[in-house]
Amino acid sequence: MELVTVADLPKEQCTGCWACLNRCPTNCISMETDQEGFFYPVINTNQCIQCSKCVTVCPVLSPVSEPLSWEKPKCYAAWSKNESVRFHSTSGGVFTHLAEAVFAEGGMVAGAQYRKDHLVEHVLIHSSNELEKLRQSKYVQSEAGYIYRQVQAALKSGTPVLFVGTPCQCAALNIFLGQKYDHLYLCDFICRGVNSPKVYLAYLKELERTYRSPIKQVWFKNKTHGWNHFCTKILFENGEVYLADRETDPFMLGYIKRKISCYMRPSCYQCSFKGVSRPVDLTLGDFWGIENLLQDIDVNKGVSVVIIHSEKGKQLWHTVQNLYTIDNISLEFVKNHNACIINSVPTNSNLYRSMFFSLLDNIGYFKARELLENKEWSD
Ligand SMILES: Cc1cc2nc3c(=O)[nH]c(=O)nc-3n(C[C@H](O)[C@H](O)[C@H](O)COP(=O)(O)OP(=O)(O)OC[C@H]3O[C@@H](n4cnc5c(N)ncnc54)[C@H](O)[C@@H]3O)c2cc1C
Ligand code: SF4
Ligand code: SF4
Ligand code: SF4
Repeated sequence: MELVTVADLPKEQCTGCWACLNRCPTNCISMETDQEGFFYPVINTNQCIQCSKCVTVCPVLSPVSEPLSWEKPKCYAAWSKNESVRFHSTSGGVFTHLAEAVFAEGGMVAGAQYRKDHLVEHVLIHSSNELEKLRQSKYVQSEAGYIYRQVQAALKSGTPVLFVGTPCQCAALNIFLGQKYDHLYLCDFICRGVNSPKVYLAYLKELERTYRSPIKQVWFKNKTHGWNHFCTKILFENGEVYLADRETDPFMLGYIKRKISCYMRPSCYQCSFKGVSRPVDLTLGDFWGIENLLQDIDVNKGVSVVIIHSEKGKQLWHTVQNLYTIDNISLEFVKNHNACIINSVPTNSNLYRSMFFSLLDNIGYFKARELLENKEWSD
C-alpha cells in the first residue's frame, strides 16, 4: 500500500530526522515527543493537502537508490597535530580540521551543539571561532529543526557547506536537496545510535541534585584517563566535577553495554543506514584497534578513522591541514574492530525496555538502573 503521509510509517522505523517537517509545503507537520522523549512527526490533518511530499523526502520510505559513492572507499588513520584540538575532540580531532578547510573556502559548517538546557540541536556556523560549540560527540539525539532548509538556502547562494550528522540525517539532507551541489560536503560518522533525551535529562537532573548545583558543561568520552578508557565528565556551576569511566558511569553503560542497552531510539536497533559504502563524501569514526596495527602510536590521545567515499571528499581531504595521516588502511580491519559500521546494536527485550521506562517515571534514573542492573529479561 502506498503511503500518502508519513503518519502511517511504523513508529519504530522513524529515525526522527525532521526531513518531513522541512519539506511540508503547508508547514502542517510538528515534531512532538513520545513517552520515551523521542521526537516523531505529528500532522495537522486540517492543513494537510495530501501531497505526499513528506513521504518522498523520508529517508526510510524513499531511500536513495542510485549509488552516489565509489565502490571501493579509501580509508585513513588520522589525528590532529594540535594537542588541544585532539584532547577536546572525541576521536582524533579530524572534524575540526575538515571544518577549517571549508571555512578557508568561505564556507559554513552545520553540526550539533549543546543548548543551554543541555539538549542538542543542529546549527549552521560561520567561522572557526564558533567551532568549539560543535566539537565532541553528544550522545543524545540532535534536533534537526529547519537545518535542511538553512543548508539549502546557503548552497543556493553559492556558499560551500560542510554538513556533519548521523547517517540518517545525512541521508535526509541528500533527499531533501534533490540535486547534487559541488560545494556541499556531506560527512557522517560510524553511528552506534542516539539515546533518549528524556533519559539523558533525568540522569542530569539527578546529578544536579546530588551535587547541589546546576550543570555547567557535559563532556562525554572525555580523555582524562585516555581515549581507550573514556570517561563522562560533568562540570557544575559550584566548581564540583563528576568524572566516571565507561565501566562505572551508568548512562554510558546503559548505552554501550549490550545486555542493558534499552534507551536508544527504536530505529537505531534496526538501522538501515549502516554499511561501508555510503552516499556521503566522508565518514568519521574512532579507530578502535589501531594499537594492533601501529605499535608506536599514542592511543591515549585518540585516533580517527576517515573513510573517503567520493572524488569531492578526496579533494576536500587533500586541502585539510594540521593532521597526521596514514593511508592504505584496510577497511576489513576497521570493520572487524568497529561493528557499528555494519551492524545495529541487537535489541534488548521489549519487556526490559518498558520496565525501565516505567521505573524511570516512578523512581528516577539511578534507582531504575540499579534495580535492572543485573537482570536479563526475555519477552
Ligand atoms: C551519537 C553518536 C554515536 C557514535 N557512534 C560511534 C561508533 O559506534 N563508533 C565510532 O567509531 N564512532 C562513533 N561516533 C563518532 C565519533 O564519536 C566521533 O564523533 C567522530 O569520530 C568524529 O570525531 P572527531 O574527533 O573527528 O571530532 P569531534 O569534534 O568529536 O566531532 C564531533 C562531530 O559530530 C557531530 N555531532 C556530535 N554529536 C552529534 C549528534 N548527537 N548528532 C549528530 N551529530 C553530532 C558534531 O557536530 C561534530 O561535527 C559516534 C558519534 C555520535 C555523535
Ligand atoms: S502530505 Fe503534504 S501537506 Fe500533508 S503532511 Fe505530508 S507534506 Fe505536509
Ligand atoms: S524518518 Fe524522518 S522524514 Fe521519515 S517520518 Fe521520521 S522524521 Fe519524518
Ligand atoms: S543508528 Fe541509524 S537510525 Fe540511529 S541515529 Fe544512527 S543512523 Fe540514525
